[in-house]
Amino acid sequence: MSSLSERPILIAGGGPVGVITALALARQGLPVHAFEAESKVNDAPRAATTHVATLEMLEELGLVEEVIRRGLVEPLFRIWDRSTGKLVAEFDFSNLKNDTRYPFAVQCEQHKLANLALERLRAFPHATVEFSARVISLSQSNDTVEIVVETAAGTRTVKGCYLIGADGGRSTVRKSLGIAFEGYTHPERFLILTTPFDIGTRYPGCTRNYLAHPEDWCAFFKVSGDDGTGLWRVLSSTRLDQTEAELFDSEAVERRLQKFVPKAGRYDVIHRNLYNVHQRVAASFHKGRVFLAGDAAHVNNPLGGLGLNFGIHDAVELSGLLGRVLRGKASIDILDSYDRHRRPLNIEFVQQQTVANKKRMEEKDPVVRARNFDELAATAADPVAHRAYLLRASLLDSVKNRFEAAV
Ligand SMILES: Cc1cc2nc3c(=O)[nH]c(=O)nc-3n(C[C@H](O)[C@H](O)[C@H](O)COP(=O)(O)OP(=O)(O)OC[C@H]3O[C@@H](n4cnc5c(N)ncnc54)[C@H](O)[C@@H]3O)c2cc1C
Repeated sequence: MSSLSERPILIAGGGPVGVITALALARQGLPVHAFEAESKVNDAPRAATTHVATLEMLEELGLVEEVIRRGLVEPLFRIWDRSTGKLVAEFDFSNLKNDTRYPFAVQCEQHKLANLALERLRAFPHATVEFSARVISLSQSNDTVEIVVETAAGTRTVKGCYLIGADGGRSTVRKSLGIAFEGYTHPERFLILTTPFDIGTRYPGCTRNYLAHPEDWCAFFKVSGDDGTGLWRVLSSTRLDQTEAELFDSEAVERRLQKFVPKAGRYDVIHRNLYNVHQRVAASFHKGRVFLAGDAAHVNNPLGGLGLNFGIHDAVELSGLLGRVLRGKASIDILDSYDRHRRPLNIEFVQQQTVANKKRMEEKDPVVRARNFDELAATAADPVAHRAYLLRASLLDSVKNRFEAAV
């Protein structure tokens, strides 16, 4: 392992995918060095929903119990027609009780997951996560990758045997490789408002609610918050002509929340976050000794909560392949299977589902809306169709396909 410790596996990005990849490699005894541009894990409200297939992988990594403890277990999600206030369909992951040990989703904020992985990484002397260290360029030869890292002390060159670009949607690694990010950016942005007001008093019994509407759809999710007392995130779309200043204005925020969930008195709003929304997949997830994982490889709208889940699956699959090659259990050629499996899976399971979810939430044609609602209600009412829908929505089908494709 001496040459390996001189040339560890390098990771650009210490977001959730970067640190989980580091942990999955470190647990195999492989030296790993991750570089995170910022001084700490980003705690902006982004992913929270952790699906069945991901919970099973987090079990393998020894993280699942703590994720469940730090998050909220939710077996249900509901789809409503906001125009009429009627419940269209309720889906229940308990229907997967014979398919998994985890027949539910766990709402656990992504910074908690990343911080948990960082805590676990401290136990591995051969793993380093360096903060305030930005990867600015890379080059590679037949057996080495070299990156230039910028820190407060200046720039330095670091050598490794492989590099994983887990550096998010604007990935420097992907751009340095000249890999196109194919797809499109939605014209509108999504706004998340976070409030301690208990929306569960108005929508009892389920902490994941999607409310379809031709002009003003919204979604409500509960997370436990840093102190465990519970916060609700209200996700909605914005108009193209609305500026950030207009959207964040206190009166506009109040009007928006009162429109979705009317209540006496003003809302206490603790976060306002605006996100660009994309559907993009890298033209390749692999070039030579460099791989892309997580948002560096694929981005999607958040409806369905799939992006980070799929990124964690990337981390687990890639670290497994690298482990087999570096321990001499498989030829280097198997690394090609990473791109061959993951890229089409992302298109089929993540891009297609999230695009369909968004269309269904905002559908303007009343005939199509009614047909969508009828289909959802019929799916929820039929036990076979209900289970099939959940196997896909929870990414369990994508994992099954992956393993079948791999053999
Ligand atoms: C509103 C919203 C809600 C979402 N909800 C869900 C959900 O419920 N479920 C789900 O699965 N997904 C969800 N997602 C998607 C999820 O947030 C992303 O898929 C996830 O953050 C991807 O993690 P990552 O580690 O790949 O990238 P990031 O979280 O973007 O992390 C990349 C890291 O790399 C660092 N970095 C960047 N460039 C460099 C560099 N050159 N050198 C070193 N470091 C660098 C960054 O500072 C950052 O820390 C949601 C997204 C949004 C916007």
